[in-house]
Parts: sequence; C-alpha cells; structure tokens
Amino acid sequence: MYNIGIDLGGTNIAVGIVTKEGKVLKKTSVPARAERPFDQIFADMASCIRQLFAETGIKESEIESIGIGTPGCIDTEKGILIFAGNFKYGKNIDYRAEMAKHFDIPVYIGNDANVAALAEVRAGAAKGVKNAIMITLGTGVGGGIIIDGKIFEGAYSAAGELGHIVLISNGEQCSCGRKGCWEAYASVTALVRQTKAAMLANPDSIMNKTPLEQVSGRTAFDAAKKGDKAALAVVDQYQEYITEGLADMINIFSPEVIVVGGGISKEGDYLLNPVREKIKSRVFGIGLLPDRKILPAELGNDAGIIGAAMLHA
Ligand SMILES: [Zn+2]
Repeated sequence: MYNIGIDLGGTNIAVGIVTKEGKVLKKTSVPARAERPFDQIFADMASCIRQLFAETGIKESEIESIGIGTPGCIDTEKGILIFAGNFKYGKNIDYRAEMAKHFDIPVYIGNDANVAALAEVRAGAAKGVKNAIMITLGTGVGGGIIIDGKIFEGAYSAAGELGHIVLISNGEQCSCGRKGCWEAYASVTALVRQTKAAMLANPDSIMNKTPLEQVSGRTAFDAAKKGDKAALAVVDQYQEYITEGLADMINIFSPEVIVVGGGISKEGDYLLNPVREKIKSRVFGIGLLPDRKILPAELGNDAGIIGAAMLHA
C-alpha cells in the first residue's frame, strides 16, 4: 500500500506517491493559480493523481490515504479549510467532500508547516525522534510541534504559530498585526531589512556592490564569508535573534531535536554553529542536560508531499 501526499501551495500544487518509509516514488506538479474556483483546483489535483497512477502502474485500490498539506486555518477532524490567510482559496472549503467527487480514498488534511515538521520527524533530519520542533525561516517564520511522534495542534488545530511569540515588546511590526514577533526579526524578510539598513549605515561595506532592490537573504552571508565587518555584524545579530527564539522553544517543549528549514538553512553549519554555541548559556538548566540538537532540514521541497502522505497515521 502507498499514500498520496499533496502540497497545496500558493504557487504550485505538488502531488506525490509516497512509500510507507517516506520515500517519494513519483511526483508531479501544476501551477496553483489560486485565484480559481476551488473545484477546479481539486480537479487539477485529481488529474495529477491519475497521471501518477498511469506512470507508475499503481492502482487506486493500492492507496491507503490522500493527505493534503495546506496553508491557513483548518479543522483537521472535519477536513475543512476554515480560512487560508494570504491565499485566495476562500473560506469553509470541505476538502473531503471535494476529493470524494474524484476518488473513494480517505482524505486527511494538515497545516503546511505542521506537515513539514511531521515529514522531518518520520523521514528526515529528526528521524526516529519522539519530540521535535521545526521552524522554517522564509518570508515568515513557520513552526511545527511534534510531541510523541505526532503533530501537536492544540484547540481548533491552531497551535504551532511559533513565529508569533514576541521577542521585543512593541518592536517591529509583524504581518500578523502584533508588534515585535520573532518572525519580524528572524524571517528572511527581516534579514533583508536588516541587511539594507546595514548597507545604508556602512557605505564602505562590500554588500553595497548589490543594488538595494536586489538584496536577498544571501547578501549578508556572502559578504560575511569574505570578512566584511558590517556583514559579519548583520549575520551575528540575525543568529542572535534565531537563538533567542529557539532557546524559548527548548525551555517550553524540551525537544530532542530542532529542525531548521527554509532556503537559508542551506547555509548549514555557517548559520547554525554560532546558534548552537550561543544557545548553551540560555537554556534553563545550563549544562545539566545534554545539548538539544539543532539540525538543518533534510527533505527540502519534498517535505510537504511526504508529511501529507503521513497524516493518516
Ligand atoms: Zn506576528
């Protein structure tokens, strides 16, 4: 038996057939075109699944579940998307009823950040670990909490918004409406803002070779590796912000592993070694317990497919 995982993003819909071990056997994707009516988006998902059946020879009867990872606020028990935030998928969409128009297979849904965390615990960087936290540093700071091997959702499936703990009271404006959230300091969006400010304040910095409008999350990291002082300061402060939030996560959840995902996690040890060092003096019970591992995510873009395929169990 296999499971199907669907990563329903704002840009692309990625669909894969996944083995019990969490290996993507075959995958495909189509543009999401999220402004369309929802039944059209489901029809696209269904044709992706049929395409995968045709390409692999796997039959509908060999599929145990269809899992869908989706942005937004969801009711996982009923399989309903309540509200999709930045995405235009609308409100109160019954994923199960929509998918039932195409296949007679049980459907499970999960929040996309939670689904990625589940994938990393079942088949990625935190494989075999019971308690783990995943944070994804991107446009925002996404989070997922895994307790005893399962997603912790809290009431109304709304837990795990780890990016919206407050780091600095009355600080930078956050996209959620509150001020001073961790996301407003540790996201790549925030890093870009911090980089631009350092460029303006330090005209001699080699970061200024990059035009302001082309600054990315890599600009400060690239210049820091060449020894640029202003860039080193930006990177150090950014690692400081990441560390403070992660130390809170350890103090609350005591995970064995924290998985750090998002494009910037490709900086690997260059990003994470200073965080691992800084965090030692900030975790409750300093030195009395083993260090919690802070590891880069392993599954990359496949995490959404793999985690969705594992929602059934
Ligand atoms: Zn916020």
